[in-house]
Amino acid sequence: MERAYDVVVIGAGPAGCAAARTLSRAGLSIGLFDKAVFPRDKTCGDALIPDALHALKKLGLAQRVAQISYSVHGMRLISCDGTEVVIRAHGACMQRLKLDELLLDGAIETGVKFLPGHDFCAVFDENEKLYRVEFNKGGEIVSAHAPWVLLATGAHPAPIKRAGLLLNAECRSFAVRQYVRNEPLAKKFNELIFVFDTTVRGGYGWIFPGPDAVFNIGIGFFGSAHKHTNPRRDYERFIAKLPLAQELMRDGEIVSPLRGAPLRTGLSGTRFADGGLLGIGECVGTTFPLTGEGIGKAMETGILAAEAIIGKCQLGRAAVAQTYKRSMDVLQPKFAVYRKAEFLFNWPYLTNRLVRHTRRNETTRGKVEGLFNETTDPAFLLTLPGWMKILFH
Ligand SMILES: Cc1cc2nc3c(=O)[nH]c(=O)nc-3n(C[C@H](O)[C@H](O)[C@H](O)COP(=O)(O)OP(=O)(O)OC[C@H]3O[C@@H](n4cnc5c(N)ncnc54)[C@H](O)[C@@H]3O)c2cc1C
Repeated sequence: MERAYDVVVIGAGPAGCAAARTLSRAGLSIGLFDKAVFPRDKTCGDALIPDALHALKKLGLAQRVAQISYSVHGMRLISCDGTEVVIRAHGACMQRLKLDELLLDGAIETGVKFLPGHDFCAVFDENEKLYRVEFNKGGEIVSAHAPWVLLATGAHPAPIKRAGLLLNAECRSFAVRQYVRNEPLAKKFNELIFVFDTTVRGGYGWIFPGPDAVFNIGIGFFGSAHKHTNPRRDYERFIAKLPLAQELMRDGEIVSPLRGAPLRTGLSGTRFADGGLLGIGECVGTTFPLTGEGIGKAMETGILAAEAIIGKCQLGRAAVAQTYKRSMDVLQPKFAVYRKAEFLFNWPYLTNRLVRHTRRNETTRGKVEGLFNETTDPAFLLTLPGWMKILFH
């Protein structure tokens, strides 16, 4: 079976759906392919930070998400020595099973043709104008043609390699999470909780409240730390040590097993574009190092790639690829700082001092708030004067 579209989008997560909806609203015909049958679960912490809310607004879906997500009004940082500080930032939380279904519906309603159960196998450049993309559908090879292809297959390296965008197969991070329902605890707080603790050396733990009193609790490791850890063991230690986690588990009902997944972070290890084939979302490393948040940047890069195609397609592949790469370059400085700042998680003394200083000092608190809200330069995390203040004031 052969099908022709203006754009073939491979992967119907946040990146693929955001791109498909944006392109389809501009009048292009879109084939959106995914190997999974939806609704499908994606292992995630489920937190929507300000960049995700911003992208949802741009897609015209913020209202719908607000209606079914759990809105949070801050982020509580807890350090190893028990010091806490609340960061003012808007956010939300909802299970990816529901969010991704909503995003997919948002694409389909604009006219996008969704084809589930299609496992991407190969892509061929037919005549430098048209791509043929091959999928395995229940043991049979089926093809689709389009002048533009967007790869949005997430962290796993195999499809990125098949598309010719992979430079380095290693995913720099790994995280595990579990769902636990606890109604009494749900009445007590509505913040995203980030915990820096020695049981999660090289990363952090989280407890995020979601709809229906279901919490998402997990731990993640960044940089090289994930190579040296045993996530299940460290998760158990994390729960045993943190009083809030103990309360959650003791009085709560476990509603899912512990599940883990790699994260492709740092805008590194892949090429963003090859001719008319562009990589979007986590497959090109759009998940933040340091925080592990990636839903927002997945949607944002999906929108950026779609806008590059809409604005420049008449000028050819090189113009589209260049426009997209330029917009990715704008994101690079923040990712570069976050990549370097991952060392902090290996030094509990430093995270203690940072949380303590953030609690005491309005200016530092403003800067940390700016990190989440994307209103300040995160470079202070790496400067000597910045750390002199944090350590000695
Ligand atoms: C444990 C954990 C916790 C996290 N917590 C958060 C958080 O709280 N907040 C946050 O913002 N981010 C979080 N992230 C990161 C976030 O999950 C990713 O950044 C985000 O899912 C990336 O979206 P995407 O659309 O690029 O890829 P994905 O969401 O992975 O979607 C990729 C899609 O491609 C499909 N696909 C894959 N291979 C193929 C193939 N061969 N053929 C066809 N289709 C294919 C998949 O089925 C999937 O539907 C977390 C990640 C992990 C692992």
